[in-house]
Amino acid sequence: MKVTVLGAAKEVGRSAFLIDTNNAKILLDYGVMLRRKEPLFPIHVKPKDIDAVVITHAHLDHSGFVPSLFLSKDITTYSTQPTLELSSLLIEDMIRISGFYLPFEYIDLIAMQKSSRSTSYREPFSLNDTTVVFHESGHVVGGSTVVVEYDNKRIFYTGDINTKGTKMMRAMDLDIGDIDLIITESTYAMEDHQPRKEAEKKLIDFANEVVERRGILFVPAFSVERAQEIACIFKEANFKHNIVMDGMALKVNKIISKHPDFLRDPKLFSDAIRKTEWVSGWKDRRRIVKEPCVVISPAGMLVGGAGVYYLQQIAQNERNGIAMVSYQGEGTPGKELLEKRVATIEGKVRKVTAEIQQFEFSGHSGRSDLFEMISQIKGNPKVLTVHGDGESCIKFAKDIHEKFGLEAYAPNTGETVTV
Ligand SMILES: [Zn+2]
Repeated sequence: MKVTVLGAAKEVGRSAFLIDTNNAKILLDYGVMLRRKEPLFPIHVKPKDIDAVVITHAHLDHSGFVPSLFLSKDITTYSTQPTLELSSLLIEDMIRISGFYLPFEYIDLIAMQKSSRSTSYREPFSLNDTTVVFHESGHVVGGSTVVVEYDNKRIFYTGDINTKGTKMMRAMDLDIGDIDLIITESTYAMEDHQPRKEAEKKLIDFANEVVERRGILFVPAFSVERAQEIACIFKEANFKHNIVMDGMALKVNKIISKHPDFLRDPKLFSDAIRKTEWVSGWKDRRRIVKEPCVVISPAGMLVGGAGVYYLQQIAQNERNGIAMVSYQGEGTPGKELLEKRVATIEGKVRKVTAEIQQFEFSGHSGRSDLFEMISQIKGNPKVLTVHGDGESCIKFAKDIHEKFGLEAYAPNTGETVTV
């Protein structure tokens, strides 16, 4: 089998890998790299040269460019049902915001949905003589890792993973058998996260402090899963004060509610979102910013959405607080807020006096867990490190080689590897 790296080589974003098994050509993910203005895309691949597309999970850096394959031909797209629904929601939103820069339109997303087949974990399916199977990734609702098998060779693609899971997600499933090649994410290969329990306690303490001094705690959170994870943390801690949810997170709540089997604790999730007040319009929003409460709203990096309104309303009062719980990309308003304590309010850059605290609730495994994952995989696999910055991918590969004696390296974009 051959793997061609079409994106996510020494970078986070535009994940795309073409597997050629001699009798089937399968595209694993086809994502975009979102930036301040125009997004970046993976290396072009001709739709006529592909037999099937597999989407590991809904995040746009894995799913966002799939509709571009439907301009001339329909290709069967395999994913779990929540991945299809959540990626459709995110892609639709991307078309609305960045449509100008995209080579496809809403109609192509519809074509993608029509060509989709929903697949379940641990249920192999065949493409010619090639077998594909999904396993749980622990990263996001509906998220999968993928094993591709042909002629007694097996490739394991991690997509994005969280080996331990979260309040929302069960741990990653590593019962995958012998593997000949691993394509692994490296996002946090160089660092370990703050222990989850500590981060949760710190967040609840901060929320109590802010609300008890009659302030508003604003939590900018990604609409897919982070917003719900935060709601679950508040619910499990029996947080006494009012919690409000707004923006696209509410649509995501509805999608996730349809798929309880994909959750670690469906009751905790439904209790958590039932405990929150769902904002239905501007009248609600204007009222909400007048009383102490917790507001969970996208965008996680404050690039748009209802979150921008809340930030403007609460930023210049020291009684209020801002809990940064999401990854902040370079050049985003969220990153500026964290680093320079400023926000654009009424068109002007202004100092933020609300108290800002940062918390680590990553959906990715940290360094120790990534090594633990590699150590548990059977066989004597070759390892490709991708989906991390250049230094992380290169160093992670070097460390894997030193620790386990496996052949490991960080491939370049366009490189083809044979197994
Ligand atoms: Zn992801």
